[in-house]
Amino acid sequence: MGRSKKQKSSSIKPLEVVKYGHPALRSKGRTIEKIDEAILSLAEEMIETMYEQDGCGLAAHQVGRALQLAVIDVMPAFEDRPSRAWVGGREIEIDSLMPLVMINPKIHPVGDERSIETEGCLSMPGLYDEVARPERVRVICQDLDGSTLDFEAEGLLSRAAQHEVDHLHGILFIDHLSAETLAEHQPLLRKFQAKASPF
Ligand SMILES: [Zn+2]
Repeated sequence: MGRSKKQKSSSIKPLEVVKYGHPALRSKGRTIEKIDEAILSLAEEMIETMYEQDGCGLAAHQVGRALQLAVIDVMPAFEDRPSRAWVGGREIEIDSLMPLVMINPKIHPVGDERSIETEGCLSMPGLYDEVARPERVRVICQDLDGSTLDFEAEGLLSRAAQHEVDHLHGILFIDHLSAETLAEHQPLLRKFQAKASPF
């Protein structure tokens, strides 16, 4: 997901973010069977890339790898777009979860409330629109040490988790827009497609 404030990070090199039109963005991500060194470094590089690009979330698909792996950090955007999270029914400090690495995540809406907020995507820079999504979700995933994370979220964290898990199934936020709204974005989408590299 797009938009947050820049943070300084380590010397890990950021990766190139692929743009709309790249085939990885429409692929279903493979389940990660083993969290090995390659996955650990990919996750670190994705976190670095997310900070470098001022994003609050990034899916492996966006660095050209169709895997069930996404990273999120909602703290840089917290003042403008707060988040809340609960583990086992007890509210927790959001920053204790950040940066969040989600491996093989499953996500379910909790309750009927929906919210409409503006979204953007690092794979479609400059394209923003309002998307309706469930306000509260439950996320079950593995973290980098293989342990299970099971939490509920509201606010930006909920939205970012839904946006990123969509990516892992080849779904983009523009897929949630009406045909009419999507048509308005076609000129920009065609520009991305024209530039997209096939590899
Ligand atoms: Zn995105």
